[in-house]
Amino acid sequence: MSHPDQVAGQPVVFRNGTVLTMDDAHTVLAGGDVLVVDDRVAAVGTALDVPEGTLEVDATGGIVLPGMIDTHRHMWQTAMRGYGADWTLTQYFVWYYLEHGRAFRPEDVHAGNLLSAWDALEAGVTTTVDWSHGLQTVDHAEAAVDALQAVPGRFVLAYGNIQAGPWEWATDPAVQAFLERRRTGAGDRLGFQLAFDVTGDPAFPEKAAFEAARELGLPVTTHAGVWGATNDEGIRLMHEHGFMTPETVYVHAATLTTDSYHRIAATGGSISVSTESEQSAGQGYPPTWQVRRHGIPVSLSMDTSVWWSSDLFSAMRTTLGADRSREHLEAHAKGETVTQVHLRAEQVVDWATRGGARALGRDDLGSLEPGKKADVVLIRNDDSPVSFPLLNPYGHVAFQAQRGDVHTVLVDGRMVKSGHRLVGADLPAVRATLDATVEHLRSTLGEEAWAAGMNPATPDDEVLDNPYTYTEYKSDSTHDARGTVFGEPGSSA
Ligand SMILES: [Zn+2]
Repeated sequence: MSHPDQVAGQPVVFRNGTVLTMDDAHTVLAGGDVLVVDDRVAAVGTALDVPEGTLEVDATGGIVLPGMIDTHRHMWQTAMRGYGADWTLTQYFVWYYLEHGRAFRPEDVHAGNLLSAWDALEAGVTTTVDWSHGLQTVDHAEAAVDALQAVPGRFVLAYGNIQAGPWEWATDPAVQAFLERRRTGAGDRLGFQLAFDVTGDPAFPEKAAFEAARELGLPVTTHAGVWGATNDEGIRLMHEHGFMTPETVYVHAATLTTDSYHRIAATGGSISVSTESEQSAGQGYPPTWQVRRHGIPVSLSMDTSVWWSSDLFSAMRTTLGADRSREHLEAHAKGETVTQVHLRAEQVVDWATRGGARALGRDDLGSLEPGKKADVVLIRNDDSPVSFPLLNPYGHVAFQAQRGDVHTVLVDGRMVKSGHRLVGADLPAVRATLDATVEHLRSTLGEEAWAAGMNPATPDDEVLDNPYTYTEYKSDSTHDARGTVFGEPGSSA
């Protein structure tokens, strides 16, 4: 079956799909249509009348949902896709912050962003916050924004620079002039934030950066509650100086105490949970299990493809898994059985759509309702046995679907993926710029450092004594060791 291209400005109607509107009531329409005219959702219903010349997209057997929103992705690092698969957070910090981050030229940031931007759209992520902390110079920043504007998605450049203190770069007149210039006339497919972390230094040097953000009228996004890096002190300083606002986004927020969650909840901010990241890098346990007790809004994010996936299907899946895993583990430590789980598939689909819109202050995104911006995703793959039966649409999105099942994607009413293929992406050209970046980094680092970075040392663990193999007894510490942090099941330890 062929999929005709949309002519510029042509209305589009999705016909006869299961429509997850993600409106306030979470209305689900069976056999539903979604009509897009210009950059807006014009109508949602069944058997809709559409303007003459409307492009029809058959959504039979598929799921139509709002475009997904990733609130924290270091897009420049996609140039190193998969390189750090076995890193810890410490190894990441050493590689990027201390040793090799400075090797990235503006064209390398451009290459990473270009790849990441298409990657997001291909997966149905229509809005991505580019947590861009490799902007060593304004030239790097220009390159980052040029790449984002070369791709027909919706992006937020969160300006950052790990090579200098935020009190330095955020107050730099050249940086501020850049932000003013690139904001002007950028349209609503490009937003801006400031991205920096608060170390908890009692002198609170980050104050100047918060003041700059306020002056510029830009929200702040900050890695908070990251084990070994940021903690309650940072939150307390932000709060006491009046810099915690509803548009502040706290990334990870995994190792904070109740006091900090109260401060976040009371000031209306939101938390961007990057479960795949938190699970393997070590920022702390993915915090949804405790965040829900504070009523803090949540959005989802993928963090960086130097390790992880870049689609929100992975985020929804791992977030459900981590939350439920924790619930079961804690119950088992008390000798109990969980018979009902808290976190639902419907909730993570909400976080991946509405949650992101709320975090970005964009109430025109995140749901399919007349008048909303037309960022729409159709999940449909007739060639896949995983596409049927379609019984529980939220469960299907969260646990069954994957990026290859994303059939059609619209951003701002424009078709950017059709019939499982990106529209207007010159991937061979993107690949050529990536090849040049990898070649540059590899030759700058040298073969030895390049290989060492990808193959971090592993801890040398002893294999436990096993009484059933009649090995000679070696030590108490390995003979009886149990692999649990919660003690013996049923004990009060
Ligand atoms: Zn991050």
